[in-house]
Amino acid sequence: MDTQEIIKALDRLTEQSSKLDVGSEERTAMMSASIEYADSFIAGLKTVHGFSQKEPGDLSIHKQSKPWGELLKLYQNNVAETGINAASGTHLGYIPGGGVLAGALGDFIAAVTNPFAGVYYASPGAATIENEVINWLKTVFSFPDTSVGNLTSGGSVSNLIAFAAARDKHGIKNDLITRSVVYLSEQVHHSAQKALRIIGLEDVIIRYVPIDTQHRIRPDELDALIIRDYADGLTPFMVIGTAGTTDTGAIDPLDAIADIAQKHRLWYHIDGAYGGFFILTSRKAAFRGIERADSLIVDPHKSLFMPYGVGAVLIKDRDAMLHSNYYTAHYMQDAIADELIQSPANLSPELTRHFRGLRVWLPLQYHGIEPFIACLEEKLLLTVYFRQRITALGFEVGPEPDLSVSYFRYPFDTDTDRRNKQLMDAIHHDGDVFLSSSVIGGKFVIRIAILAFRTRRDTIDRALSMIERCLKEII
Ligand SMILES: *Cc1c(COP(=O)(O)O)cnc(C)c1O
Repeated sequence: MDTQEIIKALDRLTEQSSKLDVGSEERTAMMSASIEYADSFIAGLKTVHGFSQKEPGDLSIHKQSKPWGELLKLYQNNVAETGINAASGTHLGYIPGGGVLAGALGDFIAAVTNPFAGVYYASPGAATIENEVINWLKTVFSFPDTSVGNLTSGGSVSNLIAFAAARDKHGIKNDLITRSVVYLSEQVHHSAQKALRIIGLEDVIIRYVPIDTQHRIRPDELDALIIRDYADGLTPFMVIGTAGTTDTGAIDPLDAIADIAQKHRLWYHIDGAYGGFFILTSRKAAFRGIERADSLIVDPHKSLFMPYGVGAVLIKDRDAMLHSNYYTAHYMQDAIADELIQSPANLSPELTRHFRGLRVWLPLQYHGIEPFIACLEEKLLLTVYFRQRITALGFEVGPEPDLSVSYFRYPFDTDTDRRNKQLMDAIHHDGDVFLSSSVIGGKFVIRIAILAFRTRRDTIDRALSMIERCLKEII
């Protein structure tokens, strides 16, 4: 090809490729349509159902282009209107999500400006925003300045990073794996066992520590298990406590577990993915000892009401965290390490990553912290309110929860499990408010998890009416 031919070919290609960089008129039209869509979506949340069993229609990708407005409609019909409506306050199942608007706009701006947040030198500002979010978390959980951390996609990856650090700190590899012991309770989130598998620790010994009637780890039992394992020549190396279990909202006795971990020199990991930010509320006392963990995970996309896709991990031992995530050696000198930890990529399996710091930083800066705390207190009180009212309807409730997850079941005369399952099905079929179920102590129970920032007293009243309605249907 001579230069003239190249220029001609380029002109032809540019005609097509420049469509990706939309012009000002088209840009305005796309953004206005999107804002209009988002606005009407949010406005409709007050009345929309929490759950729909509708299946999505055709979402396959074809060669030809489609108008933006048509695509937004397709999204509304086939995505927004199927499954759990996690943006509405009526999501009271599993652990609900948030999606505060300032966080959503943070995502938009992060994606438009697209700074490379993984490496300090590539975007000192973006890396600093990520680091300031981590610094704020250190103050919230009283972690020392010298600890390190990372914003992840969520609790599962946070667990993974923390366990890898624990593994490397304790040199758990090769023959040692099958003799090493991890202590956790049956209430631990399943992402823990999954993370152990992924990082090559599938064959460690897992000890399920007995729990009390409030579903909390019993420290005396933990101590006894560790002593026995040492006596048997095994290598206890990590204990996992949970600050807010997914099923029952229980907070393990964090301080007492810290004493035992310290005494036996175990890595102490605390999973605060669901409950962590309740430390900012009147329940603060229950979190005593959280600052003694070697690693801690929290999920801003749960108890800080951010859109899905942002978790955080804090780790005290920076060398242990660097070991698995920073590939080149020579990081042992402090001076170098200081520089290294300014770049989030050195503390994460990810190199190129979503600039997720902005969606946390913007809402915290814009709203200040108080509305977040009030929102958490509101959820705690709504839980008390729900339990009082459902008890009055003749239901049995689980033990008083530490946080905002609770469970209940109807005391049918016979076939209690099956009939409660029937009630659950009726609730899902109704769908006005979304609840989920679990099996606790061998019994089928219906769970309520109150954590969506849009859940208010009228939402709980709707849930109660729905439950009454469904109960009448099956009785
Ligand atoms: C949700 C949850 C996780 C997993 O977090 P993801 O953000 O969903 O990956 C881990 N631990 C607890 C206690 C949780 O509630």
